[in-house]
Amino acid sequence: MSKDFNQVWENCLSVIKDNVSLQSYKTWFEPITPIKLDKNVLTIQVPSQFFYEWLEEHYISLLRKTVKKELGAEGKLEYSIIMENNLHSPKPYTVKIPTTNRQALKNDPVAVPMDVSGEKGIRNPFIIPGLKKVNIDSQLNPNYSFDNFIEGDCNRLARSAGYAVAKNPGGTAFNPLLIYGGVGLGKTHLAHAIGIEIKNNHPSKTVLYVSSEKFTHQFIDAVRNNNQNDFIHFYQMMDVLIIDDVQFFSGKEKTQDVFFHIFNHLHQTGKQLILTSDKAPVEMQGMEQRLLSRFKWGLSADLQNPGLETRIAILETKMYNEGLELPKEVVEYLAYSITTNIRELEGALISLLAQSSLNKKAITLELAKQMIDKFVKNTAREVSIDYIQKVVCDYFDLPIELLKSKTRKREVVQARQIAMFFAKKMTKSSLANIGMHCGGKDHATVLHACKTVNNLIDTDKRFRGYITDLEKKISIQ
Ligand code: ADP
Ligand code: MG
Repeated sequence: MSKDFNQVWENCLSVIKDNVSLQSYKTWFEPITPIKLDKNVLTIQVPSQFFYEWLEEHYISLLRKTVKKELGAEGKLEYSIIMENNLHSPKPYTVKIPTTNRQALKNDPVAVPMDVSGEKGIRNPFIIPGLKKVNIDSQLNPNYSFDNFIEGDCNRLARSAGYAVAKNPGGTAFNPLLIYGGVGLGKTHLAHAIGIEIKNNHPSKTVLYVSSEKFTHQFIDAVRNNNQNDFIHFYQMMDVLIIDDVQFFSGKEKTQDVFFHIFNHLHQTGKQLILTSDKAPVEMQGMEQRLLSRFKWGLSADLQNPGLETRIAILETKMYNEGLELPKEVVEYLAYSITTNIRELEGALISLLAQSSLNKKAITLELAKQMIDKFVKNTAREVSIDYIQKVVCDYFDLPIELLKSKTRKREVVQARQIAMFFAKKMTKSSLANIGMHCGGKDHATVLHACKTVNNLIDTDKRFRGYITDLEKKISIQ
């Protein structure tokens, strides 16, 4: 039975698409061309060495799985790399990847590659017979250390608490240490960093990092196989247990129940718990009260959006570590444009490198702008009136309730007019709707506000400065 290579690759792509972000898909998978299928070996052509290395480093496990799904256990993948400006070798350069063995070589059976944690089909560590404490793989990612975790106002508390815990796990008041904050702000990175630092300071301690998703799956399997006790014992053996994204436990009563017992055992015996969550404890819905109250026993430290300097520093560290150089204006542009998610910031940097490698163009501000337009703006939320009000109020240091009230205090009136002006300019809302959101004014008031603001822009230099600042803040959300 011979399969068509185009079809095979199409099928692979449809799986891949569901497993990576749109941005990654466009950057890394769309430029690939399938070239042949020989027995069970699918050959794909990638645009450059850089591409090949990136795929290998970040997507090997996904590629391996999809190829196997299509071609069976014997399925293999080969890359053909288009060499850049290489006159001596007209033929594409081919690298064979025996996808069957690679992973097995890199990881012992307990280890799970970082980016596929939570997957099914991975052997659960706790059912390996004769498991000894020393054999436990901590599942820590060496790339997520304190060394490359940039300190800023946004993370100072969480970082130093983590540092203190790493010095003396189980021996500080920070037990549990709960790190919370929005998506892509460094919770997972910091959690690993603490784990790594503990291992450095106390090599004999048993440290385990696990995502709450994986914990949940393991528990479900344990129930199914009737070995809950092994599961519980395994976790109770830890000196340091790091559970990432505990908000995932919400609504899962049985999992919360078993976690509660593990938590109590560890806490009572002076073992350290480190948890992360995308919400503050008070906002976690569907979490049992007894767990929530325990989360608050130690320290809850939040990670906030990084300021501009921190964003630049993060990009620079990342570039330094990867041995890259970019014009300063490009770095600044990226840091300006992407403000609320460090993962996206890094993604943009990487896409930019890929684009430049793909099109063999130098990385310029122009290229950066095109890239940001294509990827970032498309996915960004549309600016809302609420958002505009928030930015304006933050800027003038006013409570947002005042802006929404009917007060005629001078500073408030002006801020309100500015919010109306931007709402008219940057949203599709009607004048009436804008008025309603800004202190219940009518559409004529909004029009008048826009006129006033335009006049002031023309006549008052300081005022014009406010508007330019605000416009930047609002449009690069
Ligand atoms: P979260 O778990 O909060 O969603 P991650 O820990 O996965 O976020 O971080 C997203 C990306 O941003 C990672 O690549 C991480 O290394 C990077 N990152 C986050 N915070 C920092 C920081 N302070 N310094 C350097 N890199 C950071
Ligand atoms: Mg995370």
